[in-house]
Order: sequence, then structure tokens, then C-alpha cells
Amino acid sequence: MGGNLGNSAKIFEQAIRKLTENGVQSIRQSRIYRTAPVDCVPGTPDFSNAALTGEWTGTATDLLALTQQLEREAGRPARHSSRESRTLDLDLILFGGECFDSPALTLPHPRARQRLFVLEPLAEIAPEMRFPDTGESVAEALARLRTEAEA
Ligand code: AMP
Repeated sequence: MGGNLGNSAKIFEQAIRKLTENGVQSIRQSRIYRTAPVDCVPGTPDFSNAALTGEWTGTATDLLALTQQLEREAGRPARHSSRESRTLDLDLILFGGECFDSPALTLPHPRARQRLFVLEPLAEIAPEMRFPDTGESVAEALARLRTEAEA
């Protein structure tokens, strides 16, 4: 989850409630991390980011439809640039052991492993979870990215 417009803590809380109401079970959430914008226009406000894990009995495509509906309900226009400020961004990072590549959905998320703001919150709640394409764990991916960032 990410966002940099409005009260992110409230917006995230509401999104989690709606995920639960729509069938996502056993949700665990990281704390909220405050992060500097990446690849955004100058002057973009800082982001709040958090990671969630949960159980979902439907398909990944069904879950993406739900997360996109919640983004719209939080006030994000259906057509948007990924570089602009937003109330709520809900991305799917991992979906069990599934690898998937279509124009609408790529799993694992193609940019997750380059982003500290994804791996740090995810490592807090699911360090042992693995990327099915490389076998790397979330904790290992985070350690590697931190080393690369220092280099
Ligand atoms: P964003 O602007 O970052 O929210 O990107 C949204 C676009 O990325 C949508 O068109 C989605 O269909 C697409 N997309 C591809 N893979 C994923 C994923 N793993 N999670 C969320 N959106 C995805």
C-alpha cells in the first residue's frame, strides 16, 4: 500500500477493512513507513508505505480487480500516471508461488525488488516469503538491495 495525499493511516485502515469485507482473510500489516518519492516530479510529497499479507481463495486477477476498485473508492482516478501523487496505490507483490505475465498483471511485481519502500515493510511481516522466479527470500532481496544502495 502506498499513498501521499490525505490521511494515509486512515485511508490504509479503510482499505484493510474493505479487503476483509470482500474476502481477504488473516490480514497482517506492517507498520507504516514514511518514504521519499522515487521517479516522481520535483515537489512530490513523501509517501506512506505499508505491506500486507493475507489469504485469498480467488484468482490473482480477481484480487487485482478488487484492489483497483478500492483505489478508485479512495479517490484515485481509473486512468492515472504511476508518477503522480495519489491517495491509495495497492499493488500485488507476490501471489503464493505464482508467476504471471499479462498486460494487466505481472507477478511477482516486476519492480518490487528494486524498491526499498516495498521490501522493508514486507520483510517486517514476511521475511521468509520467497520470490518464485528466483527462489530468493524477501529478507535476502532486502539485504541485496541495501548493499547495492550503499555501493
Ligand atoms: P500503478 O500506477 O503502479 O498502480 O500501476 C497500475 C497498473 O499496473 C495497472 O494497469 C495494473 O494492471 C498494472 N499491474 C501490473 N502488474 C501489477 C501488479 N503486480 N500489481 C498491481 N498492478 C499491476
